[in-house]
Amino acid sequence: MINVILFRLRNLVGDDISPRELAWLFAGWLHPALYSTRRAGMIVSRVRLVAIIFAILTPAWMVVDFWMFPVDLFWKLATARILAAIAFAWLSTRPVRDVTMACAHKALIIMFAIPTLFFLYSYWVVSGYALTGFAAAVAAGYGFLPFAMLAGIAIFPLTVVECVLFAAPMLGAQAIAGIVKWNALEWPSFAGAFWLLLVITAVATLASASQLALMIVLVRQLMRDPLTGVFSRSSGEELLSLHDAATSRDARNLAVAFVDLDHFKLVNDRYGHEAGDSVLRDAATRLRTGMRGGDVIVRWGGEEFVVVMPDTTHDDAVTALRRMREQGFGNRPDGTRQTASIGVAERRSAGTEDWRALVELADQRMYVAKQEGRDRIVAEERPA
Ligand code: GH3
Ligand code: MG
Ligand code: MG
Repeated sequence: MINVILFRLRNLVGDDISPRELAWLFAGWLHPALYSTRRAGMIVSRVRLVAIIFAILTPAWMVVDFWMFPVDLFWKLATARILAAIAFAWLSTRPVRDVTMACAHKALIIMFAIPTLFFLYSYWVVSGYALTGFAAAVAAGYGFLPFAMLAGIAIFPLTVVECVLFAAPMLGAQAIAGIVKWNALEWPSFAGAFWLLLVITAVATLASASQLALMIVLVRQLMRDPLTGVFSRSSGEELLSLHDAATSRDARNLAVAFVDLDHFKLVNDRYGHEAGDSVLRDAATRLRTGMRGGDVIVRWGGEEFVVVMPDTTHDDAVTALRRMREQGFGNRPDGTRQTASIGVAERRSAGTEDWRALVELADQRMYVAKQEGRDRIVAEERPA
């Protein structure tokens, strides 16, 4: 049974998601940085959009209140509506320093807090009036706010845990609204409404998690080079800048290696492009399995790879690349070893400005390795 459910879950978006990615649907703290920045960007811009819409709609409803309610009730609600509209307008224009999941969570908390407070206040105010006819119908509409808010969770690509945490205060608000009217509470309709809220929460959570699953699959396809399965150049650059920012903040090491396969063109020329592709795939796989788990392998260009090694000293990077070289980059179609020329640079010891300069330096050293006869590692300046 569980297996069937898991199988169905993995098929959520047509393209199978791996068991590791399935865990990401539940726990945001497991997400790799590249996913988190994209998700945070999506959430922050959607919060903005929702905030703009509500900054307009919330005061617009005052026209209906004005026609339906006694004047004093209208003013009490109008005040709350204007305050909520101001809060939404502020939320939609508020500058966000850097787009991280912490910022995205903050934006979501504010976005859900505004209607929750509005709901509690309006519910309390409206319940003090004995309304009839159309006025009663409009007043009942105020009670629907938690339903709309919980359904609104579906707009965002959230994990299951996040959905539950964001739904909890609204379910709590509904419970408080029930307690406010405790004496006059109609139990069957209250329980029915609460049950409906739980169902809406469950459906919204499913919608939200399937959005996240779609995002995970798309980001993965976007990030990976289709031939070799390692990171593509653009996502590699993004990762480099993330690691660069993180490690330079605390003055930690950041090493990179530029790996260029030797005489690769000959493979294509002699054995065809297909054979060349296969050698490339093999070399990439060996790089991926030969380096540490925290290292990032990027296909920089045709037969060029960049290895990003966070928290690795210059000497440790050279040791790792030596070991890599000994293990080899696979064989060419004629059975001989496929060799590579490698340039290594580390930011703190090289004193480079940013990651671009660091990669550039590693590239220059790789070029020196080529000039000195290929199949070697160059990790320091050569005297001119
Ligand atoms: P060097 O030792 O100086 O690096 O020589 P090289 O032949 O490796 O370098 P060069 O830059 O002259 O040639 C690189 C070749 O890589 C040329 C190009 O056809 C081939 N290549 C680039 N991308 C791919 C690919 O995706 N598949 C295949 N099969 N070949 C590719
Ligand atoms: Mg090259
Ligand atoms: Mg080459």
